Amino acid sequence: MKCDSTLYRAAPPSLAVKPRLIRHLFLPPLIIALMIGLGYIGFWVSEHYGIRSLSENGQRQLELHARAVESEISKYTYLPSLLELESSVSKLLGGPSPELRQTVNEYLEGLNRRSRSRAIYVMDTTGRVLATSNWRDVDSYLGEDLSFRAYFQNAVRGQPGRFYGIGSTSGEPGYYLAHGLEEHGKIIGVAVVKVRLEAMEERWQRARLEAFVSDENGIIILSSDPARRLKSVVPLSDETKEKLARSLQYYWFPLNELQPLAREKLAEGEEKLTFPANSELVSDEENISYLSQTRPLSDTPWNFTLLTPLQDLRREAINQGILVAVAFALVAFLLIAWNERRKVIATRLAAREALQEANNQLERRISERTTDLRASNERLKGQIRERRQAEETLRRAQDELIQAGKLAAIGQMSTSIAHELNQPLAALRTLSGNTVRFLERGQLDVASTNLKTINELIDRMGRITASLRSFARRGDDKGQASFGKAVDAALQLLGGRMESAQLHLHRNLEDVQVLIDQTRLEQILVNLIGNALDAMQSQPQPELWLEGEEFDGKYRLRVRDNGHGIDAEARKHLFEPFFTTKPGEQGLGLGLTLSASLAAATGGHLGVEHPASGGTTFVLSLPLVSPTPAEPI
Ligand code: ADP
Repeated sequence: MKCDSTLYRAAPPSLAVKPRLIRHLFLPPLIIALMIGLGYIGFWVSEHYGIRSLSENGQRQLELHARAVESEISKYTYLPSLLELESSVSKLLGGPSPELRQTVNEYLEGLNRRSRSRAIYVMDTTGRVLATSNWRDVDSYLGEDLSFRAYFQNAVRGQPGRFYGIGSTSGEPGYYLAHGLEEHGKIIGVAVVKVRLEAMEERWQRARLEAFVSDENGIIILSSDPARRLKSVVPLSDETKEKLARSLQYYWFPLNELQPLAREKLAEGEEKLTFPANSELVSDEENISYLSQTRPLSDTPWNFTLLTPLQDLRREAINQGILVAVAFALVAFLLIAWNERRKVIATRLAAREALQEANNQLERRISERTTDLRASNERLKGQIRERRQAEETLRRAQDELIQAGKLAAIGQMSTSIAHELNQPLAALRTLSGNTVRFLERGQLDVASTNLKTINELIDRMGRITASLRSFARRGDDKGQASFGKAVDAALQLLGGRMESAQLHLHRNLEDVQVLIDQTRLEQILVNLIGNALDAMQSQPQPELWLEGEEFDGKYRLRVRDNGHGIDAEARKHLFEPFFTTKPGEQGLGLGLTLSASLAAATGGHLGVEHPASGGTTFVLSLPLVSPTPAEPI
């Protein structure tokens, strides 16, 4: 059974390899690019949300610490105005005298001590210090002209004077709160409280907080990091710088700008600043980024700025980015592995399906062919039935023919039988007449001899009729026959003809048992020997050879004569029924046909040979009952 080879044919290699090559070339760079991209996105998102969370937290911190700064500053706002209530102060401003000054000095000293401010002093409307809490110190303000100070100028105009500056006398930074002292609605002097706010810086440092306060000029006046102190957070023009220098507000400090390496505005009052790593707080050499959150402080034009380092956040964001990239790489790897596995499974499935399809096709073909075979089987069965019927019919016809042949043979032989029987009958008549005469004469011995001869003749006649009866009887396909007895019977039956022809018989055979009915074997032999006798009629020295031999489990008998032989045309039709060359009533043309068919019915065979020396040889083969050779007869 042939299978369809196209089912197993692989795809052309050029078509199968190309996409795989492209995939192998482009997939790794693509995955790396995606890893980097996703890693960066992970980093960015983590940083973004981290900053947002820090910002929310920072807002609370900012609020908390800004309030602390506000409360620290507001603690002192009422203090200068308190001096309005002190009569000695207003008296001193009305008419200064050494006693009054001393009284006010001592009062201010006590007040300063209690309020823990840096200094409290009173100035007249020209800006000269009339009394001060630090009157005992060498660098006391007493008698100093501080009219150039902005806080004085504001206070003398009735406005609250708020000022951060570096003392022109002490060189010490401080927060100045000035208040115009009024009497009867007129400003008679100015009271000033100087406060030191460094305690807040220390508090921030202890809390590891990075924060600063910048004033109205954008100058950092308080900072947890001393390096940032007195730096400007906004760019200052040269003109402003000169003006500020002249005001001595920041003494002679250069007021450099606090310049971040990068600045990114995130929201109102919120920036991302990157500073170079020169701060003491940073040990490594990396630049440091901060989230800068600024809020104005109430009651002052100042701003409070909280710096939250983004270092940890950045590190965290980098880790997150790496994590995302690694996770992506893992997912990509798993996807590739899954895809490869899917392809393998798909290939296996396809192969299985192809196999299944091939199987189905095979099964279809098998079932088609089985149907064909069944049909042809049925046809064959039909034919076999028909042939059996034909065989049956033929066998019946053959049986009929055998019977007919026998009858024909009887008919044929009746003349010779009549001849055979007439001779002894005539002899009997003569002998019986003679015997009566011999008895009448009293010649008893001669009469007795005649009676013996009569007996012998009657026996012979009985044998002839017995052979005839057995020949005419219907035989059986099965049975065993003695070869010797059959030959004897046949020769006896044809004895008369053989004698009259003066035949010379050569007999060389064995008495073996063959698988054929005894009568049928005799019929065959009578036919063959009879034909030989016919063929040798005109032969002056007729000779008949009966030669037997065992061959291949069969017994083979050759019946050879030296008759006229058979011509080429007659040879073709020899075994055909009713073929005869004998004239008139002599031949029916059934002898050979019946003999061959009787031999074949028992598994034997009847053939003919035409010896070069002349005559004819018929070869009869019959299966042996037992292949052991018998005694020669
Ligand atoms: P029949 O003897 O009635 O003619 P057979 O079938 O016995 O029918 O023989 C057919 C023919 O075969 C004979 O007519 C004869 O021509 C030929 N034939 C048979 N035996 C011999 C033989 N031994 N020699 C020559 N011819 C023979």
